[in-house]
Amino acid sequence: MAQKVLVTRPLPGDALERLRREPLDVRLWEGEEPPPRAAFLALLPEMEGLLCLLTERVDEAALAGGGALRVVSTMAVGYDHIDVAACTRRGIPVGNTPGVLTETTADLAFALLLVTARRIVEAAEYVKRGRWHTWSPAVLLGADVHHATLGIVGLGRIGLEVAKRARGFDMKVLYHSRVRRLEAEAALGLTFVASLHDLLGAADFVTLHVPLGPQTRHLIGPAELKAMKPSAVLINSSRGAVVDQQALYEALRTGAIAAAGLDVTDPEPPTAGDPLLALHNVVVLPHIGSASLQTRAKMAAMAVDNLLAGLRGERLPHCVNPEVYR
Ligand code: NAP
Repeated sequence: MAQKVLVTRPLPGDALERLRREPLDVRLWEGEEPPPRAAFLALLPEMEGLLCLLTERVDEAALAGGGALRVVSTMAVGYDHIDVAACTRRGIPVGNTPGVLTETTADLAFALLLVTARRIVEAAEYVKRGRWHTWSPAVLLGADVHHATLGIVGLGRIGLEVAKRARGFDMKVLYHSRVRRLEAEAALGLTFVASLHDLLGAADFVTLHVPLGPQTRHLIGPAELKAMKPSAVLINSSRGAVVDQQALYEALRTGAIAAAGLDVTDPEPPTAGDPLLALHNVVVLPHIGSASLQTRAKMAAMAVDNLLAGLRGERLPHCVNPEVYR
């Protein structure tokens, strides 16, 4: 009997056709909306392979029903939606898609920084509302990005690419990570700041690039926002829950910081009527960091590679729990 696999959304590029050429029983969840939790849980028990997105919670409850599961492949680099330890206990390898989305996500983070600093969304809305009467010296004034100080929290793959982009704008770049990266410091002229609070106090722009986990959940809370300059701008393209969103709302509302640009929120999508969305000094995007045609096709191909390797009992090309092979 053909192995059953669940793919939780249509995939870009030729990844799905490639999967369908295999002797597999592929169950595709059609449409752009994720499967409702109940439907996902009902489908999982029969499946030997799962190719999912970050919208599917693969937790203990999901795994408990999925007795046949041999591989979980997510089309994302962040895997905070998967209980990796629970997968490992069951001998299930988990694959992700690192590297291929790094530069595309860095482009988006930097775009969000520019858009938020220069109030570009507000300005475009201003024109659409017919309010452009004449050039005015004090309307829609933003903050200069060039020669400003950028604080990068988490200098991994994406953080490093953001640092490269910042150099083109003659920014002074500070970074905070648990491990110092001397080579990057030398190559890009970066300054390591051991204390997160010191970095927050010194930066004009703070951009977050840490993975979400127990140590980074609400890494930016009331105290951290208070440590930032009142003129500072916070950019988050990592995961929504890295920031305490209620505290961010208060900081933006009271002017404790100047503005925020968010590609990610907590929860996603934001709840209806979330007052954060009504603030003039926040730009919120619907988690489009990796959303370029080329990158999404590469991510889908990589997710299919991981899935097929797992179904064949081979080592996943990109495995987040290699201890499963010991
Ligand atoms: P990565 O290469 O693993 O980089 C993460 C960096 O965070 C590491 O260098 C790590 O360095 C640092 N870090 C981890 N915990 C930290 C802590 N407690 N304090 C300070 N630094 C810490 O990952 P990546 O590929 O750059 O991706 C980063 C995250 O971006 C992903 O996990 C994902 O959630 C998010 N992402 C979002 C989108 C989007 O569409 N918006 C797209 C791709 C990725 P140390 O270990 O030295 O601290």
